[in-house]
Amino acid sequence: MKKAANALPKPDLTPKPGLHPRNPHRFRYDFAALLKSAPELNNYVILNPKGEQTINFSSAKAVKALNSALLAHFYRVKDWDIPEGYLCPPIPGRADYIHTLADVLAETHNGIIPKGARVKALDIGTGSSAIYPIIGNREYGWSFVGTEFDVNAVASAQALLEHNTDLAKRIEVRHQRFKESIFRGVVQDNEVYDVTLCNPPFYSSAKEAQSANQRKNRNLKRPTGKSKRNFGGQDHELWFPGGERAFVEKIIVESKAMGERCLWFSALISNQDHLTKLEHVLEENGVATHQVKTMAQGQKTSRLLIWSFLDETARQQWVKRRWEV
Ligand code: SAH
Repeated sequence: MKKAANALPKPDLTPKPGLHPRNPHRFRYDFAALLKSAPELNNYVILNPKGEQTINFSSAKAVKALNSALLAHFYRVKDWDIPEGYLCPPIPGRADYIHTLADVLAETHNGIIPKGARVKALDIGTGSSAIYPIIGNREYGWSFVGTEFDVNAVASAQALLEHNTDLAKRIEVRHQRFKESIFRGVVQDNEVYDVTLCNPPFYSSAKEAQSANQRKNRNLKRPTGKSKRNFGGQDHELWFPGGERAFVEKIIVESKAMGERCLWFSALISNQDHLTKLEHVLEENGVATHQVKTMAQGQKTSRLLIWSFLDETARQQWVKRRWEV
């Protein structure tokens, strides 16, 4: 049969190296499927030199449309949107964190991933679209509390949940009024969590965030003077005094007081140099155990730092009490 003039090459089904084996984003994007779930994406689809469908990844609007399509297609999210200029979370890497965390929980549970709303997770700095809670709930049915300092991000995440009432039953977003606090003020004294997660603000000052952004624009060969990020991000979303290391240090120090009420704490670490120092802070604060899991995506490697104040026996009791009833 003669090939139609505009027939597209067959989608490449070779997995992208590095991503977690359960990550549904480890293959090249299947634009035909995405366009079925999100026809609006068509406005941004272009062909690369091989004649394959793609988008212009240096265009914030195109990246946002792709995110919306991925969320609609893989996670049944309706009407996803974020306020102008806010961080647009790249979905594949966010999904990797959730699947890696599921492995950690399974390791405490005879290799079986605990599923359902009885598994309670706390996402520190959930952002304007509660991305980890959405993926965690859709993949494993877990329930979530997401905390967030930025009021606009809180409003945006809450509006998204109002449009997706099934998610709203299992995800709650709470406003953290104090940037310097992690659990204090947003977690009640009697609350218990199976796991906490966090993608911390990375830069240590607004200036550092801005100059990193300018460097990225130069690499993407955007006209100079244009300072939009393709993945967006308000400056204050991206920085914290002392950066990633100080933020995670804060989580560790505050986690001690919650040590009996949470099985595993975790944080994403982008800068490998921070790891040894943070492991030292963990020891100083008397954790029972900690581990580091590596996640790779293309050229980028990040690590999950995971810790618990419960010893092996207490962890086994926890699992029996909470997941095996
Ligand atoms: N989880 C989202 C956003 C990560 S950016 C994602 O992965 O895309 C870090 C987030 O932490 C920002 O939204 C920032 O506003 C928020 N944040 C900063 N300090 C915080 C604090 N003390 N408590 C809760 N959120 C905080």
